[in-house]
Amino acid sequence: MSAYRHIKIPTTGEKITVENGKLKVPDQAIVGYVEGDGIGPDITKACLRIWDAAVEKAYGGTRKIHWCETYLGEKAAGLYDGNYCPDETLKVLQDLVVSIKGPLTTPVGGGFRSLNVALRQDLDLYACVRPVRHYAGVPSPLKNPGKVDVVLFRENTEDVYAGIEYKTGTPENEKIAKFLREEMKAKFFEGAGIGIKPISEFGSKRLVRKAIQYAIDNGRESVTLVHKGNIQKFTEGAFRNWGYEVAREEFGSVTITEEQLYAEYKGKQPEGKIVIKDRIADIMFQMMLLRPDEFDVLATTNLNGDYLSDAIAAEVGGMGIAPGANIADHVAVFEATHGTAPKYANLNKVNPGSLLFSGVMMLEYMGWNEAADLITLVYPEVIADGIVTYDFARQIDGAKEVGTSQFADALIERINGGVDLEAKRKALQAQLIKERKQREIRRLLQPMEEMIDSGRVPQTVADLMTRSLITVTDSETVESAMHVMTDNDVSSVVVEPNADGVWGIVTRRDIVAKIVHAGKNPATTRVQDVCTRPVASVPAELSIREAAARISDSDYSRMTVEQSGKIIGIVTETDIFNAVDKFGWAQE
Ligand code: NAP
Repeated sequence: MSAYRHIKIPTTGEKITVENGKLKVPDQAIVGYVEGDGIGPDITKACLRIWDAAVEKAYGGTRKIHWCETYLGEKAAGLYDGNYCPDETLKVLQDLVVSIKGPLTTPVGGGFRSLNVALRQDLDLYACVRPVRHYAGVPSPLKNPGKVDVVLFRENTEDVYAGIEYKTGTPENEKIAKFLREEMKAKFFEGAGIGIKPISEFGSKRLVRKAIQYAIDNGRESVTLVHKGNIQKFTEGAFRNWGYEVAREEFGSVTITEEQLYAEYKGKQPEGKIVIKDRIADIMFQMMLLRPDEFDVLATTNLNGDYLSDAIAAEVGGMGIAPGANIADHVAVFEATHGTAPKYANLNKVNPGSLLFSGVMMLEYMGWNEAADLITLVYPEVIADGIVTYDFARQIDGAKEVGTSQFADALIERINGGVDLEAKRKALQAQLIKERKQREIRRLLQPMEEMIDSGRVPQTVADLMTRSLITVTDSETVESAMHVMTDNDVSSVVVEPNADGVWGIVTRRDIVAKIVHAGKNPATTRVQDVCTRPVASVPAELSIREAAARISDSDYSRMTVEQSGKIIGIVTETDIFNAVDKFGWAQE
């Protein structure tokens, strides 16, 4: 059946297929693997044993992976007359849909494309996916690394990686510089190297679509669009806008924006809805150190994702155990994220963690979560026993250093020793629910502080307004209303609707003008005689800029904020001033 030269498709299993846009994984599934160069064979051998043991234990023999070895890198060069990236390997990876690979040597010198770039381009693996979470016992520079649990989706095909660059001094550079200066009136220094950053609607949307679908499939709380749109409006800013668009248009029934979370749901996340939010890239680096538990799934452009994924991986114990995958619409290649560490090749020494957890990701991708969970749950137990490879041993006092295959033995022993998966899952779930409640309480009680602390940039009037409405009634005396203002330290109070259902407002300025200046007695004058009615009101979703325009065009400095016919807060020119002072002002 096989038209391949060296690849043998196992006859014992069935291929994974795609049906109606969904992966169909048979119980006897064929999965491709590439051993990799350098330390690749050591870690691959160890991991194949661990994955097989987990699948066997989880499904009692009813499910099994039938491995199909495929070739890239040095092993391929040996078999295919010096070809590091044979066409038949690219073909089989596409054909098998799901595969996993060890690290590969990129041959130095002309004539070779980087193997990883070749794979990415030929299979159109447009999403680079990196889950980053902490495993108890793994050395980390953070105080509470357990709070880090995110999955980063990095766009893999465009941005400054598109390779559109013009070296200074070349005719191409001069041509484009002339065009930019003369036709586009752009200003930049003489002799500048020039690079172009294309970000498309197609590329952005398919990446964000994948991130949202992942969040839905895995019960995640939020998807954060990470961008530098405050500076690069038509590339990074457009990525953000297209991200919100795809959420609204294709996942409208299961997503809400962060603005809606505050304005419509008072900070309490409705069951079954995923929150779509966005953060400026530089703030995201801070947030992943200060409040990592607020983030779940991240969707980023290519360069930001490159930086961010390595920075976050370092938070939970470094690159040594960070897993990854490059995924197209369905075809997925899971991979160790480190290199071939040639000095350790065939020494049975290095940590198999990165490839191991890439395999865990792969099992989850196949829907074999029970097997994936087994590995995830026993791993910290083995580390807690102090059984680790050299890289962790040098960071953990009293640890027992073992080789790659002995580490695999320890994990397999634990897997076979019996793990109460259900009890562990329940404990984890209870912990997640508790953390979620705590976040909701903070959002409910201190929305403004929460916004500032969580790096969110205010967008609408609802983000700025004071939510606790202080009201008086028409029939109260002005003196009583003044006491209410003093006691609550506010400069205005809202007047409850009159018989016609119309709201009013009375301000300190009204007292000065209509009581003191007019020579009236506050103890005998009623609120209804000095209040302004109807009150100027704006919808909660009005943009800050439009609110500023309304205030500028009128002679009042505050407006009530309305939603579904109800007044839910009050916004003043001081609120707008403070927000701009705090967050800066980026023009749309
Ligand atoms: P590297 O292979 O990742 O190794 C750098 C260092 O990282 C090692 O010396 C070792 O640190 C540590 N390390 C890496 N993997 C480890 C593991 N599994 N367990 C414990 N420690 C581990 O990076 P490199 O030396 O820059 O690159 C070597 C080759 O790999 C190059 O040909 C490069 O092109 C290729 N590469 C391939 C991929 C890929 O295929 N995805 C990715 C990156 C690089 P200590 O020395 O401190 O023990």
